[in-house]
Amino acid sequence: ADPLTEAVLGALAHADSVRRMEVRANADTPEDAARARSLGAQGIGLCRTEHMFLGERRALVEAMILARDDTAREQALAALLPLQRADFTGILEAMDGLPVTIRLLDPPLHEFLPDRTELAVRLAEAAEPDPRERELLAAVERMHEQNPMLGLRGVRLGLAVPGLMAMQVRAVAEAVTARLRAGGRPRAEIMIPLVGTVEELRLARTETEHVLADVAAETGTAPDCPIGTMIELPRAALTAGRIAESADFFSFGTNDLTQTTWGLSRDDAEASFFPLYLEKGVFAVSPFDSIDQEGVGRLVELAVEAGRAVNPRLETGVCGEHGGDPDSIHFFHRTGLDYVSCSPFRIPAARLEAGRAALEESTGTSDSR
Ligand code: PEP
Ligand code: MG
Repeated sequence: ADPLTEAVLGALAHADSVRRMEVRANADTPEDAARARSLGAQGIGLCRTEHMFLGERRALVEAMILARDDTAREQALAALLPLQRADFTGILEAMDGLPVTIRLLDPPLHEFLPDRTELAVRLAEAAEPDPRERELLAAVERMHEQNPMLGLRGVRLGLAVPGLMAMQVRAVAEAVTARLRAGGRPRAEIMIPLVGTVEELRLARTETEHVLADVAAETGTAPDCPIGTMIELPRAALTAGRIAESADFFSFGTNDLTQTTWGLSRDDAEASFFPLYLEKGVFAVSPFDSIDQEGVGRLVELAVEAGRAVNPRLETGVCGEHGGDPDSIHFFHRTGLDYVSCSPFRIPAARLEAGRAALEESTGTSDSR
């Protein structure tokens, strides 16, 4: 290799030998998982399942969420199950032997449902309006939310749509069983999103454990899946001691935690007054780019401390965008997190920074981070 490549590889090897935090990837396709692995990812810290419900599967999702009766919903879920099983089998294969944290569905609802204005216009313009379209519009109207990001998302959706969580958990368990039969070493973990209270997690955990037990009884293989939660709402961080009673791991969703702690929309705040705030020095840097140590970071510290006091074996990591940001990585190291998870392309830099953070700690130096 050329001297520069050799120097970079040497630095990465050194960083890997000294760092304490693991570096995992946010990936949700086998291709991304393989790419992340080749860049040194030690597992998947966040496998978002939202994209698996778009494209050709959108009609099934509509049927599942808007189902008029149990039969229609059950049919849609039954059709989704083998597709999800194949999704997870591929990802577990690409990450064989390494942990894969699969997050149950967390969409803002408006991304899945048909646009109500378009539907209304189509109906108004139709010479002979289709009665099914009318019903669809009525259902979409019923589910309309002014603030979808604060609405029927995450665990709320899982608890509200009967069978949805069970279908996803079954798909994970069956994928694990299939990989075990193929001689693999699957290590799936199940993650519950947008939890605000331990009661939500308890309900989700009970349902998850039932499905895992059912699959174990059917197949004779017990899929051993840790069950954990995202910490991405201030209330979850503040009640982390309670939440840890039902969690094997915490993964900090600092995108939503920043949004909800600051009351700033992660989708459109930056476009409007962020430049002004940066210019006037209200923000030294956008809190979505680098962890706000005083506020959001404080919630992370509190939650880690309270969670570990209740469950000393609690695993902790971060899977928000901050997991790939150098300054934030130093902060997460000092907070004692077990891993950071970031986009595949940021993995090498994250390995380096995690190594530098460990060196800094052992030599007592600081480069002003
Ligand atoms: C987060 O909120 O930080 C997170 C990782 O989840 P998502 O970005 O999918 O909401
Ligand atoms: Mg989130």
